[in-house]
Amino acid sequence: MSVFSTPDFADHEQVVFCSDERSGLKAIIAVHNSNLGPALGGCRMWPYASEDEAVRDVLRLSRGMTYKSAIANLKLGGGKSVIIGNPRTDKTPELLRAFARAVENLNGRYVAAEDSGTGVADMQYMSQFTRHVSGVREKPAEHGTRSGDPSPSTAYGTFVGIRAAVKERLGRESLEGLRVAVQGLGHVGLDLARRLKDVGAELWVTDLYREPLLAAGKELGATVVAPEDIFALDVEVFAPCAMGAVLNDRTIPQLKAKIVAGAANNQLAEPRHGASLMERGILYAPDYVINAGGIIDVYYERIGNFDAAALRRHIDGIHDNLIEIFARARKEERPTGEVADAIAEERFKR
Ligand code: NAD
Repeated sequence: MSVFSTPDFADHEQVVFCSDERSGLKAIIAVHNSNLGPALGGCRMWPYASEDEAVRDVLRLSRGMTYKSAIANLKLGGGKSVIIGNPRTDKTPELLRAFARAVENLNGRYVAAEDSGTGVADMQYMSQFTRHVSGVREKPAEHGTRSGDPSPSTAYGTFVGIRAAVKERLGRESLEGLRVAVQGLGHVGLDLARRLKDVGAELWVTDLYREPLLAAGKELGATVVAPEDIFALDVEVFAPCAMGAVLNDRTIPQLKAKIVAGAANNQLAEPRHGASLMERGILYAPDYVINAGGIIDVYYERIGNFDAAALRRHIDGIHDNLIEIFARARKEERPTGEVADAIAEERFKR
């Protein structure tokens, strides 16, 4: 297997392969870039079909974190880790302890947080063995406190980002009566849908799980559709909040929406799909810009700033970040994703 010469390697500073015979740990920690600060990024646990697949995933994800933190104006670098295994059957305290020790050995160059297959409870357990985890502490909320889960901040940032996209593409401030299709009613999608309903948007929703979907649909007064039908709806905004690669050769031609703005990571199947959206007159809010609320939340916890108003102001900045990207993309006639990458690089390569 070659690593240095693959395009995914993309100038990573450090890639650490960790194993522990007793617990069966096999993990990879990738530090892409630490120019702006320690590399903070989630720890994903997944039963990868091959080691190559795990390496590819961790490299792509950690590079993405460098861009996400830079564009969100955080003093953080980009990193990510993956544990190879099934989170339902292979996750044991011994395994998490061995992984936490591997994180500790990096002396803070990498800071772990939750991701698919790991949760707040896992991070809390790991925090007994390493100082370098985040997303573990209770924080002040609008009413009382909330857990370390950053999803509410991700949902709020996505909501703010939709406002910016609507202003740019539709020339309006109000979201009342705005027609929005939300794909995925998980932690982020459901919270986002509630915020949109509160300001009078009209919703169409889908998810893989029917029961919670029907309940949510009722609560939101939303029209429930089958997963395959979410793309072709006659809506103004398509908000992907499920999985990656949803914007591809099959789905883009179906879209009637004028805006794609949602929380899912890695929405474009390939970078060229950003240009396909632009050619069709669809405004794309780059995923790592609009979904940065979660990393901003985790950063505030990391630096010990629990000032809810300061956190909210920082997340509100996603609006102006997007407005800047949209304006530059319009002027330079380039896809918004390319412009976002260029701005992020100006910041972290400086
Ligand atoms: P989640 O697992 O809680 O929710 C995802 C939902 O999508 C689930 O309900 C799932 O059933 C549904 N889903 C999966 N495939 C689907 C399909 N084909 N069609 C319709 N629904 C489908 O995850 P989440 O925490 O809400 O995150 C959602 C997305 O946002 C992910 O891509 C995640 O990487 C990204 N993201 C999340 C955060 C965060 O703070 N949680 C931060 C940044 C980015």
